[in-house]
Formats: sequence, structure tokens, C-alpha cells
Amino acid sequence: MTMDKKPNILLIYTGGTIGMVKDYESGALKAFDFNTLLKNIPELNQLECNIESVSFEPPLDSSNMNPEHWATIAALIESNYANYEGFVVLHGSDTMSYTASALSFMLENLSKPVIFTGSQLPIGDLRTDAKENLITSIQIAALQEKGVSVIQEVGLYFEYKLYRANRTTKINAEQFQAFNSLNYPPLAESGVHLKVYKEYIKKAKPRKKLKVHKLMDTNVAILKIFPGLNESVLTSVLNIPNLKALVLETYGAGNAPTEKWLLNCLKNAIDRGMHIVNVTQCSGGSVIMGQYVTSKGLKKMQVINGKDITTEAAITKLMYLLGSNVSSTMFKTIFETSLRGEMR
Ligand code: ASP
Repeated sequence: MTMDKKPNILLIYTGGTIGMVKDYESGALKAFDFNTLLKNIPELNQLECNIESVSFEPPLDSSNMNPEHWATIAALIESNYANYEGFVVLHGSDTMSYTASALSFMLENLSKPVIFTGSQLPIGDLRTDAKENLITSIQIAALQEKGVSVIQEVGLYFEYKLYRANRTTKINAEQFQAFNSLNYPPLAESGVHLKVYKEYIKKAKPRKKLKVHKLMDTNVAILKIFPGLNESVLTSVLNIPNLKALVLETYGAGNAPTEKWLLNCLKNAIDRGMHIVNVTQCSGGSVIMGQYVTSKGLKKMQVINGKDITTEAAITKLMYLLGSNVSSTMFKTIFETSLRGEMR
């Protein structure tokens, strides 16, 4: 008798367009159950792995995802970790980069692939992108070399490219290429062959046990600076009750107006213990505090340098660090350190 050495893959279906159908009455897209989704892809039976699945009940449009759902996904991975070689999370594309970034922080010492995917068109649609996205995601999650998973981190696969999940942003609401990762190259590309770029893959620390963090502190906010931002708006945001941290989306390389009231408001908040992270509004490139006069004041008052992190990774990293009770003296240093390959 030969032993079945095929990798076991767990599909976690959370919802999203991939499994939606048109509601006949309203014409709007709504989620349908997972078995119907699987019936639409008989090709899954040909893959060299054993696939099992669990499904959110009811499946969600990802606009309704919140940190409690992230914790549910983390718990599912934790309780099934020993029995599966890889995980594929089917998720709506709207907030996929947030969920996937959050999971990258929640799953410390991950050494198996967790691949997020979804689609722009439902699986039953004639021109759907769902089949390729799902089939290749499963193949990537099942990739092994000498019995070890090739991908050992949280990835996001969409339209022929596998990215490091916490480097991605949704960039398009209608094209099949819905995501991009402007500050980090793809980890793999699918064409006639599946090319894995090993030099960019994160290697798990040997013999470290998976540690799952489910507590995310949501006393955080994002504020995008814009010409005309006034004092009343800024002070209102900074005085939100219990607010502990703010992602400040600045211009270009981390620049902001140098008006006194603005710098004073930010400095007062920092003095009160608020963590303010400087992240650029640009989709690519990095914050370089001190490069222009317009960021010198921010640097001086100890605004946290978000470097080339995405807003999605910044806000979820804040929730994770606050949820882990990182001390206020270490907070800036730890935030500025790359924990899961999310920043330079
Ligand atoms: N609204 C959908 C969602 O995010 C869009 C998608 O799945 O792509 O759930």
C-alpha cells in the first residue's frame, strides 16, 4: 500500500464576488453557498492535493469584514494548522488587502502558505477570472520542496501574480488586475509556467512555533491631509475619545503644511501619548522625513516614520501593536521595524 503524500489544503470561504449570484428581484450581487461554488469548478478534482473547505455562515461581502472576522480566520488557521500544508482564503477584493495585512501580523512565526484570493466576476460568469485565481492559489498553497512549503507567509494571488499580502493595495474596481504592490516585487508569476521568485520570499524562522494574536485594538483612525484641511477638522479627529493612534496620510515623501496650528495640534497629541504614523498618499515610494522642510517639523516631534508601508498595513499594524500592549516607549521603534516584511 502506498502512502498518500498529497498536501492537504484548507479552503476558507469568507464570501466576495467569487461566490456571488445576481438576485433576480433587485439585480444586485449577493453571496451564495460554498458547495454551489465548488460545483462550478470540477477542475479542482484534478489538482495534486486534497482539498477540504470551511465556509463563513453567511458568506460576507468584504465591506462587512471587521477585526472579529479576522480573528475567526486566524482561529480557523490555528486549529487546523497541524493537519494542513497550506490555506487558501477566498475573500472579497474590496477589503482583501486589509484582512490579509492583518492576518500577516496576527500569525506570528507562520511557516505555511496562507493565500488570499477572490475575483472581479462571479465564478458562474462566462468570462470569470475566478477559476484561474482559485486554481493557481491552490497550486501555490500546495507547492512543496523536499516536504517543506515553498511559500511561508501570507500572500495575495490575483490576475497571474502572487504578492506579499501586506504590500498590496486594491487599485482598480473593474479591471482584472485589481491589486498592485508598488513597493515590493511579486513573489511568483503564473504564465505557461509558474515562476517563483525565491529571492523575494520570506523564510520562516526555523523551529519557531506559530503564535496567533487575535486581539486587535480598534481605537485608531486614518486622516488624509488635503489642501484646505482646517484646524477644527484636525482637532476633532485628534480628540476622538479613546483614540490611541492615527495614520496620517501625507503628501509625497511624507510632507505636510508647515503652518503653526497644524504642527502644534499634532505635537500636543503626541505629548498626550498618541501614536501618529506618517504614511505617503502616493501608491508607491517612501516617506523620507527630513528630506524637505515640510517634513522636518514632523520628524522633530517624533512622528513615527511609516517609510514605504501601505495604509492597509499601517492601520492593521497599529491595531496589532496596540492589541499586544506594546509599551509606549518602545512603540515607535517597533512600528519602524519590519515585522512581517511589510516595510523596508
Ligand atoms: N464587493 C465585493 C467584496 O469585496 C467585491 C469583490 O469581491 O471583489 O466582497
